[in-house]
Amino acid sequence: MSINQFDLQIAMHTITNLSHVRQHNRKAVLRLLLAQGSASRAGLARQLNVSAMTATNLVNQLLEEGLVAVSKEAVHEGKVGRPHTQIALVPDSRHVIGVHIGIGTLKIALVDLTGNIAHSLTAPFDKTAAAEHTTQQIATLIIQLISESHIDRTRLLGIGIGASGIVDTERGVNVFAPSLGWHDLPLGAIITAATQLPTTIENNVRAMALGAAYFGQGVGIDALVFLYGRVGVGAGIVVNNRIFRGQQAGAGEIGHTVVVPFGGKTCSCGNTGCLETLIAQPVLTDDPTPAGLNTVIARAHAGDQAACDSLTAVATQLGIALANLVNTLNPHIIVLGGMYAQGAAFFLPIVRQTVRDRAFADLGAKVTIAPTRFGANAGVIGAAAVALAAQIYDTQPTRGNRV
Ligand SMILES: [Zn+2]
Repeated sequence: MSINQFDLQIAMHTITNLSHVRQHNRKAVLRLLLAQGSASRAGLARQLNVSAMTATNLVNQLLEEGLVAVSKEAVHEGKVGRPHTQIALVPDSRHVIGVHIGIGTLKIALVDLTGNIAHSLTAPFDKTAAAEHTTQQIATLIIQLISESHIDRTRLLGIGIGASGIVDTERGVNVFAPSLGWHDLPLGAIITAATQLPTTIENNVRAMALGAAYFGQGVGIDALVFLYGRVGVGAGIVVNNRIFRGQQAGAGEIGHTVVVPFGGKTCSCGNTGCLETLIAQPVLTDDPTPAGLNTVIARAHAGDQAACDSLTAVATQLGIALANLVNTLNPHIIVLGGMYAQGAAFFLPIVRQTVRDRAFADLGAKVTIAPTRFGANAGVIGAAAVALAAQIYDTQPTRGNRV
């Protein structure tokens, strides 16, 4: 008797499902090891709700590929009874490339599985140049980074790009970047074609949020918000280690919340009275660089009352915005980046007090508010997290651009 078409379809479907389950479990193991540092085979089986045999097979496969190793430190941490052999990631067994597109600055880094930067490059770019000129510059820098770092290409998993504005991660398209004048730019496909590496793009602040969740203060936490301010203001929301994007990838556009209903200043978006018109760096100085903010803070410390008042006003408005955010999302932690991290010594005490005073009930007392621990590298580390999510950590990754 020959196999009919129907039986064949069922057989193929079963094979496909088994392969999906194996991929899912493999990614879940790697994610757990990233979050926990190390785990025993029995611990992995319990946490993933799979059999001991399945966990052992998964670990054996990862050992063979060199992605994990028996952890030397943890073996002797025996509690009661026989100590379990601990398994841990081998951080430099694979790398990804993170690309942060700022406003006029490109930062590119080779990053390992645990968020460490092995090598990086920074270059200015002309933000008024045609998009194809800038994408060519990005591709050239990536190729230069690969060459300078002497990385084995077979150990390079892919590229993650943090782009500005609205990003369609599924299709790899930078839909709208107002500060650069880009519309519907197929950034992922362009970089994949130029480098022959799978590329995933994400909004740059959402990427920073994922970086904090994977490698920073958000490890082991359910809900995290990353708030970035400089020329504009934006946020990234991460829930259970996945970026929350909303219907049109607009979740987190807090800078354009209207806070002055009538008679407010015109915002870069065309609306009036947006939060951005009260708390972004142009409120304080015409110089939008980190040096520009340092100048204002130095003036305040030297006793300039006007500088002190304007910084205090920004911190207070930021605190109110965060109190509203706490009431809406009730996150465990709010990580601050850009000008708010740079000026944390001035801003943070006022921001924390305002959130305590203005959030509902005691919600403002429980939330942690802290500057990013990655400083100026938050962008590239975040972009690397986007690549790692797509390639090995996220059990339901967005498609991105494949080679
Ligand atoms: Zn606006």
